[in-house]
Amino acid sequence: MRFEDFGLNEKLLRSVKELGFEKPTYIQERTIPVVMERKDLFATAQTGTGKTAAFGLPLLSRLKSHFSKHPRALILAPTKELVLQISEDLKTYGKYLDLRVSMIVGGKDFASQKRELKRGVDIVVATPSKILEHIQSGFHMSEIEFFVLDEADRMLDMGFVKDIRKIDEHLHKKHQTLLFSATITDKVRKLSKLLLRKPVFIETAKKNTTVENVRQIAYKVDTAQKAEACAYLIGRGNYDQTLVFTKTKKSADELVEELKAFGLKAESIHGDIQRSTRLRRIKEFKAKKFNVLVATDIASRGLDIAELACVINYELPASLSDYIHRVGRTGRAGRDGVAISLLDIYERFDIRQIEKIIEQKIPQEILEGFEPDPNLKREDREELKLKSEYKNQYQKRKPKKKPAKTKKRKTTKRG
Ligand code: ADP
Ligand code: MG
Repeated sequence: MRFEDFGLNEKLLRSVKELGFEKPTYIQERTIPVVMERKDLFATAQTGTGKTAAFGLPLLSRLKSHFSKHPRALILAPTKELVLQISEDLKTYGKYLDLRVSMIVGGKDFASQKRELKRGVDIVVATPSKILEHIQSGFHMSEIEFFVLDEADRMLDMGFVKDIRKIDEHLHKKHQTLLFSATITDKVRKLSKLLLRKPVFIETAKKNTTVENVRQIAYKVDTAQKAEACAYLIGRGNYDQTLVFTKTKKSADELVEELKAFGLKAESIHGDIQRSTRLRRIKEFKAKKFNVLVATDIASRGLDIAELACVINYELPASLSDYIHRVGRTGRAGRDGVAISLLDIYERFDIRQIEKIIEQKIPQEILEGFEPDPNLKREDREELKLKSEYKNQYQKRKPKKKPAKTKKRKTTKRG
């Protein structure tokens, strides 16, 4: 199949050609006709499969240049980075069309975003919470013809379900809804039932699977040994570029320091690092100026880095779908990849949940020189745990006794 075969606007074909896209990817081949036919869509697709153009091209083609005051397409994505990437992609694809794309995310001045929306915009790309704020302050979404949910599973993991439902209530006009998700969880299924009418289903990978050409492997390593084991594995594999995932910002920073001490060039990206710095680091990583990028799950969303041979789960993620997203970062475009998980005593149990979801066993091996200490007593383990990033969670489960007097407190919950 060729891009010319879908009946897309000529102006789009021109920009697609300029981008050097020779032929549609699998998800594009499946999705474009469905969108052109005005049907609802439920698609499972992993990152790096070309989703943005899959919904973006037919959407742009159908909106063409009709400029109206109110937006006609709303695209929701879980993070600021993704929103930015989608809006930039849409601008690139649609550069010969006369359409306005606005991105609505946190961290920008609300009033100026409001003015921008008021001036008139065709396509809004937004995080759910931010656009809802604008809707609730009077912004009209009643002309929406296309409602797109990108990475729906992630949005649900991040607790956006209520926001999404509220947004949907404001979309009066009969519209087309396109839902993309890397995994199918109960939450995603529930949301799809609520939002979609007679959807066409497209599966680009087997349900909830990690990519087939990725070898998944796990090593049992005690917490205290993890950083060194990580450095060792990167060195042994001789990978040009490795993406390492941590569960928390703190452990990302700590790991970077430790990897540097082992002579590796490493940098981190996470939510506490300024956006401009994050973007710069991603760019430098892509340009191979350093070899190890340590990232938290949220910060890594929307990263489009081709040819990653290795992903390391330094810590297992908080949510199951994150595991699949993480592993999807390697083995892209049919290349072989390896996803390594380092499991402490607790994670050896947690990984069973992941195995259930992906319907696959992940072998747990011992790494020579990093054998877990069999003599660690339970108390020692608790001790290790307290030192580790789980500290807060652990303490939450065992709250300290509150002082007897609980008179009115003057402090407010949120500063
Ligand atoms: P996803 O949203 O599924 O993660 P993207 O839409 O971001 O994927 O696309 C991933 C990468 O593939 C981008 O760099 C994009 O420019 C590129 N791409 C998309 N479609 C094609 C195509 N048909 N041919 C070649 N490259 C493509
Ligand atoms: Mg995408």
